[in-house]
Amino acid sequence: MTMPTYLDYNATAPLKPAVVEAMSAALAETGNASSVHRFGRLARRAIETARGQVAALVGASQHQVVFTAGGTEANNLALAQHRSMRVLASAIEHESVLGAAGDAVVIPVDRDGRVDLNALERLLGREGGPALVAVMLANNETGVIQPVADVARIAHGHGAFVHCDAVQAAGKIAIDFAALGVDTLALSAHKLGGPQGVGALVVADRVELQPMLRGGGQERGRRAGTENTAGIIGFGIAAELAARDIETISRLAGLRDEMEARLRRAAPESIVFGAAAPRLPNTSCIAMPGVAAETQVMALDLAGIAVSAGSACSSGKVKPSHVLAAMGAGDLAGNAIRVSGGWRSAPEDFDRLVEGWTTLWARLGANRAGSAAPAA
Ligand code: PLP
Repeated sequence: MTMPTYLDYNATAPLKPAVVEAMSAALAETGNASSVHRFGRLARRAIETARGQVAALVGASQHQVVFTAGGTEANNLALAQHRSMRVLASAIEHESVLGAAGDAVVIPVDRDGRVDLNALERLLGREGGPALVAVMLANNETGVIQPVADVARIAHGHGAFVHCDAVQAAGKIAIDFAALGVDTLALSAHKLGGPQGVGALVVADRVELQPMLRGGGQERGRRAGTENTAGIIGFGIAAELAARDIETISRLAGLRDEMEARLRRAAPESIVFGAAAPRLPNTSCIAMPGVAAETQVMALDLAGIAVSAGSACSSGKVKPSHVLAAMGAGDLAGNAIRVSGGWRSAPEDFDRLVEGWTTLWARLGANRAGSAAPAA
């Protein structure tokens, strides 16, 4: 039996072998990083090494990294700093930002999925006191990269704070925290070959971070709770490897573009969302008109290919994508799947996807596209 093909790295990436090795060794050790004896000191040293590795991935300083239990917590921690402020969030933010933001003012995006800077300027110009602006670095569904440095310049010009969710961008494109100019930046280990349940918030020196979790004084009083030492060590190794392998990942863009071209040749009616904008090299969001995304995901799964429909993060249920809706996709939003490769993807994986997708198109799509038939 052939091995299944995994093209759902934006949901989670396979652990890198060096991460498994380092974490297995760490799990076999004892030590609470807050203890003063040698066991504690060894755990502390390992955590600080990882902090340096994560900081280096995004060009930040070690002391600016606060470890969390994932990207969701990092986003919540950032938004919790600004509870009394009005929040402006892009229409395509991840649920972990939108959920934490409450009644946010929505910053629209254009048809390519890029945040509308003129609208941001206008919205900030309205009366309403201090504001927080939340714009992600790259979208999880389309891979579209946002003009975050411009967002930060405009927002700071209005005295606003800026939070950036860089969970999907990290390890796929180079990130320079200082050059982006944001106040806080969220990261997650499991999108770059590290473990699930570990993340970080990178915090600019000008921000005095208030803890969301209170109790012990861990993370210099910024996040209470005994550190997940093995997870943090795994995150550190994954970050170091991701920084080193960024060139390799950028080459995925060639395979992705070729795959899209082949799908478009087979089905000229198909749509690639965000294709005209700068995108992450590994992500493709493609609609097969007339065929429900769930049907495609299930049929591809039967053919041994794992992809997802819209955002898989809140999983189980597939609901219409707010990201594609914001881009004006209309009904096509329900026909789009996300194909996302990563560090272990090979050309054959994309070949299999093309084969599975075009077979499905021939069976279901070709006679449905453009007709009034409801999506299956
Ligand atoms: N932000 C984005 C853009 C994501 O894609 C995800 C997960 O898919 C998260 C945040 C949440 O990260 P985590 O799964 O580590 O909580």
